[in-house]
Amino acid sequence: MENRPPRRAPSRHAGSKAPLGVRRVAELLLTAGLTAGAVFGAALALNDPRFKELLNVRIGPGNGQSAGQQDPGSAGEAGQVPQAEGRLGAPPPGLEESDAPLAAADPPPLGSDSYHFLAVNGDGSPVGYSPCRPLHYVINNELAPAGSQQLVTESIATISAATGIRFIYDGTTAEQPSPQRPPYQPGAYGERWAPLLIAWTTPEVAPQLKGKVIGTGGSTHFSYDDGPKAFVTGGLDLDAPQIADELLNPDGHLYARAVILHELSHVMGLDHVDDPTQLMYPEIGTPEGLSAGDLNGLYELSKAQCRKDL
Ligand SMILES: [Zn+2]
Repeated sequence: MENRPPRRAPSRHAGSKAPLGVRRVAELLLTAGLTAGAVFGAALALNDPRFKELLNVRIGPGNGQSAGQQDPGSAGEAGQVPQAEGRLGAPPPGLEESDAPLAAADPPPLGSDSYHFLAVNGDGSPVGYSPCRPLHYVINNELAPAGSQQLVTESIATISAATGIRFIYDGTTAEQPSPQRPPYQPGAYGERWAPLLIAWTTPEVAPQLKGKVIGTGGSTHFSYDDGPKAFVTGGLDLDAPQIADELLNPDGHLYARAVILHELSHVMGLDHVDDPTQLMYPEIGTPEGLSAGDLNGLYELSKAQCRKDL
């Protein structure tokens, strides 16, 4: 599945003058290219049955509000395709979507253009979450270190203020992280986009956490044909043993929170920057949290469009 866009290798900063004990953070996990048109093209090239499922779901009755971009002649046939759990697909559009953003993002106190986006639309606008619906999240906390729930809650509040996105905690889950995570899992979560999955996990379960990598984060975007993209769900994987060790240090909770904030910023749509004064630098050298560039990038992401069509 073509869900791993080319990214810079984490090791490229190995030679930087990072202090000892620098915290490494990983590349994004889930910025899957679920743009339907592109996926359809991939299906033709790859002959992967999963992509055909996505196409069928896309033009099925569940997405009738985008009729202008669909092939009505195919709807009946598509509607007969069973939409089994675990296959790529999309829920009925517009769930919980309001006419306007649910909250305003806090304007950054300082200007800075030291930020990059993980994905942009054809008009150059960054791909983010619709600010007009809440972003639900669940936590697999089976391996969560003691005291970590507060760090997650604080980090969510910080990102919510910076983006205007309203987060809703839906409780714990037994779902394990996977780079192939379906964005729509009606059997597990109902007929809506799957919630953001925050998983306390291990390198054995999540191989991208092997070595010094302490966390990964990213989101899945969706669009119709060549229309604008929006993130619909995401994943944030935290190396539970490594962070538990970190929390033994006097300032460990600060570093752990910085890791969570960094990964949540990936989830919202920020990419790494080469500027070591920003939290989105690929290594966390200080635990000071979001800097001016990070905050300005998140503020730009708060301007994403409402998406009743998704
Ligand atoms: Zn990162």
